[in-house]
Amino acid sequence: MQPESKDRLEQVLGTRILNWQAVSGGDIARAYLLETAEDRLFCKFMSGNTGLSMLQAEKAGLDHIRTTGTVKAPRVIFCEELTGEACLGMEFIASKSPSAGEMRLLGEQLACMHQNTDSAFGYTSDNYIGSLPQSNKQHPEWLSFYVKERLMPQFQLAMSRNMLHREEVPGESELMEKLGPYLRQEQPGLLHGDLWSGNYLISVSGDPYLIDPAVYFGDPVVDLAMSRLFGGFGPDFYDGYASQGAVFTHEHERTDIYQLYYLLVHLNLFGRSYYVSVKNILRKYFPS
Ligand code: ADP
Repeated sequence: MQPESKDRLEQVLGTRILNWQAVSGGDIARAYLLETAEDRLFCKFMSGNTGLSMLQAEKAGLDHIRTTGTVKAPRVIFCEELTGEACLGMEFIASKSPSAGEMRLLGEQLACMHQNTDSAFGYTSDNYIGSLPQSNKQHPEWLSFYVKERLMPQFQLAMSRNMLHREEVPGESELMEKLGPYLRQEQPGLLHGDLWSGNYLISVSGDPYLIDPAVYFGDPVVDLAMSRLFGGFGPDFYDGYASQGAVFTHEHERTDIYQLYYLLVHLNLFGRSYYVSVKNILRKYFPS
């Protein structure tokens, strides 16, 4: 950590930082565990002109999840522009490997979080998926939200980065027509929005926590689809989720369709190794 940042942080916290160590595992930010006489804090640093807005969006998501009283999320302590970089400070969660019971509890609590609803799909502010902007413009209909605010922007980015050719990409009206039968009007549920296995923690006392969210109100199957994209969270998690009574029609197809968004994001962020997976879903739902 830069000495000026440490000085500014001590001002923000109103106390001396006694110790700090780098925490690994993040894709985007630099992160540290900071120790003061009273507290242990997890601090994420981001530079560049979107750093503060990314961290503010993360703060909004963590705060929203916490207020649902369902899955826990770390308590945010500050979000500030420091000297040349932005910093988000939150409660440090000492974590451990999950037991079967704790994965089940995470599934149960996520299902309860998804029951938090709103009058529209989207969110009151935009946020980010990884380092890419994510529009949360509100729509009364899920199909139109998902096509216009999720798939189309990623298709456009992929074409502009020469990851996909124009002929490979379905147009907006074709997306609406072919996906419509699967994406019926669902009740908007509060989503984590980026639920891969690096984005939950089990605390040493056995409480599940969600971290690094990209929240909005959408179809709950989106979070389940993301959780399944790279191998799944294991049967206990899904049993816990199902125990809360949610039943989804066309769940298999909806999973494909929602994984397409995350695969497009990966294609745009990490390159051609995700091309084949994107194409497989496109061939299935948009045969030429
Ligand atoms: P990035 O946005 O760069 O991906 P994350 O928010 O995912 O960063 O954090 C990186 C890693 O730090 C996580 O994988 C997790 O292991 C750890 N971590 C995140 N938040 C906390 C926290 N509040 N307390 C303790 N460890 C955390």
